[in-house]
Amino acid sequence: MTRRVTVLGATGSIGDSTMDLIGRADEGVFQIVALTANTNAQKLADLAIQFNAEFVALADPDHADDLRARLSGTSVEIGIGPEALVEAASLPCDFTMAAIIGAAGLEPTLAAVDQGNHVGLANKECLVCAGDLFMNRVAKAGATLLPVDSEHNAIFQVLEKDAPKGVKRLILTASGGPFREASPGKLQTVTRKDALAHPTWDMGAKISIDSATLMNKGLELIEAAYLFDRSSEGIDVIVHPQSIIHSMVEYVDGSVLSQMGSPDMRTPIAYALGWPDRMAAPVARLDFAKITGLTFFEPDTERFPALRLAREALESGGQGPCVLNAANEIAVEAFLKETIKFMDIPKVVEAVINEFSAASGFSVSPTTLDDVLTLDKAARQAAIGRLKAL
Ligand code: NAD
Ligand code: MG
Repeated sequence: MTRRVTVLGATGSIGDSTMDLIGRADEGVFQIVALTANTNAQKLADLAIQFNAEFVALADPDHADDLRARLSGTSVEIGIGPEALVEAASLPCDFTMAAIIGAAGLEPTLAAVDQGNHVGLANKECLVCAGDLFMNRVAKAGATLLPVDSEHNAIFQVLEKDAPKGVKRLILTASGGPFREASPGKLQTVTRKDALAHPTWDMGAKISIDSATLMNKGLELIEAAYLFDRSSEGIDVIVHPQSIIHSMVEYVDGSVLSQMGSPDMRTPIAYALGWPDRMAAPVARLDFAKITGLTFFEPDTERFPALRLAREALESGGQGPCVLNAANEIAVEAFLKETIKFMDIPKVVEAVINEFSAASGFSVSPTTLDDVLTLDKAARQAAIGRLKAL
């Protein structure tokens, strides 16, 4: 039976890998319902034509005319603006790939969840800024959430879901990023180019910077807590530079199960796209005789304070994770524009967290979408204020 698929964030790095797999599948396996993008009208139009999409949504109205011109004479329907992303996500389909970056993906991803079908979740910021709300919506709609983030996909693959008491802890692996061995002095002077050069994974710009600060692992810690209903103490992080073991689950009897593979996102994406079956992915195969070593280190939260900040935000609960995420998005954007230094990123995040926690003690948890959006906006404004004060 043909699987009807929507890809939110089709023009990004996860979008590329998803469209690559769909393009390789046999005729009739997948039909594209909707594709979305932020600004890249050309790529969105090309994909829509190549994959015979029914609907496309572009978030940024400034590129609407370009998109319309490129799709004139085709039968592809066009939607413009953030509401069109929600419209795209609401069109009935069997599987949605949620691969928009950042909190901008929250509303469309919730609309996809509300369909009650399969959702491949790449967008971790959704869970960080609105974890309780998001998981409640998943339960209410009866949706099947298939984690695409490689660590969470690994855990999903090896977690004995019917015997949760047997699980001792989840162990998230981290590559350590491009600055794993950098001295504190060196971290003060690293550039945007250095930070974008990830040693093992090829990803979009924002997540590459998050990987360099280790905020990515912090966001993933919070993501894992919500996805697998674990507290902070039940989730450890270990640096594993080769990115071959994608994460592990330790059981009470001492067994540790891991999922391994080449660092290529097409493996977890194929897992989600094909679930519950396995589909082929054209990734490099592990050649165990050629692997010279698998090494592991404790993460250094002195040099990489973002991981500590994320764990503290998870433990404080309430508004903490949403504020952390919003401040981080603003700080990373500023670093990518080269207006702040690398180590200013955790500095800005920590200052905003302290500001909000002093004001509210993080006691109030955002429970509605409006609460989340209001808090996200306020934290972004506070972060912009901190950038100016640097
Ligand atoms: P990317 O920057 O390459 O692509 C992001 C996509 O979102 C693009 O299609 C872009 O058009 C769209 N987008 C950006 N801003 C938007 C906005 N304001 N409104 C609507 N659409 C917008 O990002 P990516 O690396 O593909 O990452 C996507 C998500 O997947 C992130 O949440 C990331 O953390 C997660 N993820 C990515 C990887 C990876 O290998 N790239 C691995 C694990 C998890
Ligand atoms: Mg990951």
